[in-house]
Amino acid sequence: MIYNSLKNVQSWLDARPCPVCQGRAAHGRDFCAGCAAALPYLGPACPRCAAPHDLGAGAAECGRCQTEAPAYTAGSALFRYAFPVDRLIQGLKYHGQLHHARVLGEALAAELAGRRLPERILPVPLHAARLRERGYNQSLELARVLARRLKVELDYRSLQRTRATAPQTGLPLEQRARNVRQAFALAPGFHARHVAIVDDVMTSGHTANAAAKCLRHAGVEEVEVWVVARA
Ligand SMILES: [Zn+2]
Ligand SMILES: [Zn+2]
Repeated sequence: MIYNSLKNVQSWLDARPCPVCQGRAAHGRDFCAGCAAALPYLGPACPRCAAPHDLGAGAAECGRCQTEAPAYTAGSALFRYAFPVDRLIQGLKYHGQLHHARVLGEALAAELAGRRLPERILPVPLHAARLRERGYNQSLELARVLARRLKVELDYRSLQRTRATAPQTGLPLEQRARNVRQAFALAPGFHARHVAIVDDVMTSGHTANAAAKCLRHAGVEEVEVWVVARA
C-alpha cells in the first residue's frame, strides 16, 4: 500500500509536462494522450524528397524527383510542418527550447530505428556568424539525439558552411537554390559511403541538395536527408 503510493508519487515526479499543452504526459511519454493523437504525421510521401505525395501504382518517386533528380538519394520526415510541430521547431530554433530537440529527435529516431542505417550522421551546419548569434545549432542538437538513439557516429565537423547565407525562410522559392549554392564544403580527406544529413525542416529542399551535392562530389554514394518536418 505504502509502496504503491510511493510509486505513484515517483511516477508523478518523473512525468514531464506535455511540450504542447503543458498538461500531464503519461509516464515515459513526451506528449499527453490528446496531443499525441493529434500530431501531424506525414503519411504517404516521396521516398526521395519526402514531399507528401500519394504515389500512383508503379511510381517510385514523385514527378519532381523524376524530372530533376536531387543530389540526395533518400529522404525521411516524420511530420508535416504543421501545428503543433511547427511551434515546437520554432521554439527549438529561435527561443532556446533545447528540450524540444530531445522530444522531436527521439520521435524521429523511433521512426528510423530498424532500417538500414548510415555510417555517420551529419547535421546541417550553421555559418559561424549565425552560430555565434544563436549560441547553438538546432540541427546538431537533433543529430545528437539521433546518433545516441540509433548508435550511429555523429560527425559535426566534416560538413561546414563556407558562406553566410540569407535565411531561406525570408526568400522567394526561386531564389533559394542560388542562395545556398556552394555554401558548403567538406573537410579534406572525408570518406564515407553512406551518410545522413540532419535538419529540422525541409521546405524547398535546396539546402539539403546543396549539402548533398558536396558529399556526392566527395564520393559518398548514398546521402539520406532526415528531417523532423516536411513543409
Ligand atoms: Zn498535450
Ligand atoms: Zn520527390
